[in-house]
Amino acid sequence: MSVLDLRQSDPESRSAALPESGSVVPRTHRRRDGTLRESETHTNAVLWDGRPALVTLLMDVTERNAQARQARRIGRIYATSSKINRIIFGLPDRQSILQSACDIAVEAGDFRLAWIGVLNEETQYLEVAAYAGAAPAYLRNIRVTTRADVPEGRGPMGTAMRERLTVADNDFLNSPTALPWREEAMRHDLRASLCAPIMQGDLVIGGLGLYGAEPGMFQEQEQRLIVELTADIALALHDLERRARLRLDERIRELTMDVYEMSATDAPLDSVLKRLVEIVTEHSAQSTAEINLAPSEFAGEPTASGLALPIVGSRDQILGTLRVYRAHPVPPTESETAAYRSVAQLASIVIERAQSRERLEFQALHDALTGLPNRLLFHDRLNQALAAARRHGTRIAVAMVDLDRFKVVNDTLGHAEGDVLLRMVGARFHDCLRADETIARMGGDEFLVLFTDIKHASEVDAAARRLLATLEHPFQIAGREIYARASVGLALSGREQESKVGEMLQQADKAMYQAKRSGSGYVVYATDTPHVQVANDLDSESDLHRALQHDQFVLQYQPLVDYAAGCIIGVEALIRWLHPVHGLIAPDAFIPNAEATGLIVPIGAWTIAAACSQAAEWDRQGLDLPVAVNISARQFAQPGLQATVVHALAQNKLRADRLWLEVTETSVMESPSAAADILADLKGIGVRIVIDDFGTGYSSLAYLHRFPIDMLKIDRSFISGIGDVSALATSGMEIARAVVALAKAMNVDVLAEGVETAEQRDALLAFGCRYMQGFLFYKACPAAEIAQLVARSQSHRSLP
Ligand code: C2E
Ligand code: CA
Ligand code: CA
Repeated sequence: MSVLDLRQSDPESRSAALPESGSVVPRTHRRRDGTLRESETHTNAVLWDGRPALVTLLMDVTERNAQARQARRIGRIYATSSKINRIIFGLPDRQSILQSACDIAVEAGDFRLAWIGVLNEETQYLEVAAYAGAAPAYLRNIRVTTRADVPEGRGPMGTAMRERLTVADNDFLNSPTALPWREEAMRHDLRASLCAPIMQGDLVIGGLGLYGAEPGMFQEQEQRLIVELTADIALALHDLERRARLRLDERIRELTMDVYEMSATDAPLDSVLKRLVEIVTEHSAQSTAEINLAPSEFAGEPTASGLALPIVGSRDQILGTLRVYRAHPVPPTESETAAYRSVAQLASIVIERAQSRERLEFQALHDALTGLPNRLLFHDRLNQALAAARRHGTRIAVAMVDLDRFKVVNDTLGHAEGDVLLRMVGARFHDCLRADETIARMGGDEFLVLFTDIKHASEVDAAARRLLATLEHPFQIAGREIYARASVGLALSGREQESKVGEMLQQADKAMYQAKRSGSGYVVYATDTPHVQVANDLDSESDLHRALQHDQFVLQYQPLVDYAAGCIIGVEALIRWLHPVHGLIAPDAFIPNAEATGLIVPIGAWTIAAACSQAAEWDRQGLDLPVAVNISARQFAQPGLQATVVHALAQNKLRADRLWLEVTETSVMESPSAAADILADLKGIGVRIVIDDFGTGYSSLAYLHRFPIDMLKIDRSFISGIGDVSALATSGMEIARAVVALAKAMNVDVLAEGVETAEQRDALLAFGCRYMQGFLFYKACPAAEIAQLVARSQSHRSLP
């Protein structure tokens, strides 16, 4: 037989040198039918008829080699098996176990790819947990599921995990079940696959897949290898779990001690819970947990990515929820679940402890009857508020509130009802305060209120009114309507000097007693000024001077009404002195002195500026509300008045006709020709001119009609007589009627001030005087209340 009978013609090998005797040369042999075989040529020298010759044997070793390779692989597999035991047992975590299993598989079996997939319970698709080998890119583009209803679930891996079987696919590229992956497998030269489930107890926790380039390479031995590998992985995981459990028990013991200790030393609940949550984070790497204290009914079934456990208190009440978020999409292991349960249990203990501590603290700092802060807590807040005020350059005020005739309530209604009243009063006070203000009960019928962030002394006045306003409506107690009244003493912290807690409380107390004695509702002291001086000190120039410097003046506003139309047409600004010792002082008590000393000029300038600023503020709020400002005789005669007015208007960008100036009849008639010039100048600015207290002076009609007057105000002495039968009163009424007629003749508006009764009102209306001002309608009140009054009068088109 010639060589040519054995193989295809091969010119190359013909020309090649003759093999040496005794050589064995491996080569790939192409048979005549074109198939390739592995072969060996064995050459030996012999004597052939006495001549040297070579005998060459060509052996087909394909089969033998395959067996040898398989044997080597099996040998390696067995060698690896012990390696697996050595290596993967004792690895610190799950991820390293999975990873080394893949590494070892690739190394042992010479596979192109080994990977471990775990099921994401939500998507039902596999996620790659670990891989090794030369073709990891394959994993990037494939999708595998355990669902039987889609092609992607009927491949080797899906089937292996679903059916808990080892699935070998020795012709991966041509197998119909591998269709979804064929293209990718071809690209990465994966021609055979072997997949097996990784079990933990009865649970399939993942799948191991091996791939090779040789079809048919997964025979019984390989299948045995994979079974062994997966069993080893399962064992290693189990062992890991056991070790973790031991460590965890130890750790939980330690943390428990820690947590108990923290809780016993009254560490904040927050930090104790944080420490507690560490048990979870420490135990399952990459998991996080949080404890939510809002009691919630929710306590879900564990899912792969998260679970919630209720934190149950000793009376079976739900105290909160422990939520665990897991990085690995696998259900929690037994030891993890145990850890979560211990955390929830411990949490319940520390939360209840903190709650009972809070209760005790609350009881120590609060009044049992009303639940309001007590003296201790109030002192603390006051201290803090003083420090904060110093830092921010603001002031604070303390109000001492004492109910009037509370004893009577107690004696007539009984103590239980008295208690109810105190509770209701406390609640009303509490409700009228801002969040940063504090009300406390001192015991008995005494309350303390802390007002903070006071930028202007007038805010104290508003604060006191806010408190007293809460008592305007009666309380319903035991089927009866009870009216409570209170006296309020306020202490305002110093602007220049630091005020002390004790000092402020003492002054508030004093102010309260003064308010009680005088029946004046409330009295304010400021701690700025030493309160040793006596009452007649009030008139001293230096005191007034200080008042101006220390910003102790405030304006109140009394509405001017058009009774016929039922609306408010403007307001009159009326000055008050918030005196540090004497409280709120009426203008009659200090304006004469201010006039005498000339201080009326700066005080008057302040008033004009403050009134303009307020009018501008109302303007911004969309309120068309002219403000009438009183100008005293001395101020009127002062050359700077016009400039002061112009400046105030400009500074506040206020339209001139929003400002009315009230000049008394006596001050213009003192020197009528000069007055005519001044009034003309003022009128020139655009402000409106009102002649105040009209009827008390001796007007010369000759002058009167030369003045640019917009309105006459009939003095209240004439109004108070209306309805009275005495001769004097009757003449007052006649004068009022005459002034109305005069105003009509002069074609100026006329307003009656001091209207106190409906009778007076109706008589004035009958005369033809529709503009009025008086207690019948409104008293003077802080600016803040004016907007509401205007809104009310507009919406009801009616006046009180
Ligand atoms: P006035 O200009 O005649 O102001 C009206 C006064 O009558 C206000 O007293 C007001 O509260 C009061 N009044 C209003 N309606 C009634 C009522 O129905 N019955 C009674 N009995 N009185 C009523 P107030 O605020 O005490 O002012 C007194 C005076 O002080 C004012 O009298 C005014 O002459 C002067 N005044 C007030 N504020 C200022 C100011 O800013 N500058 C100057 N220079 N003087 C002022
Ligand atoms: Ca006036
Ligand atoms: Ca007047």
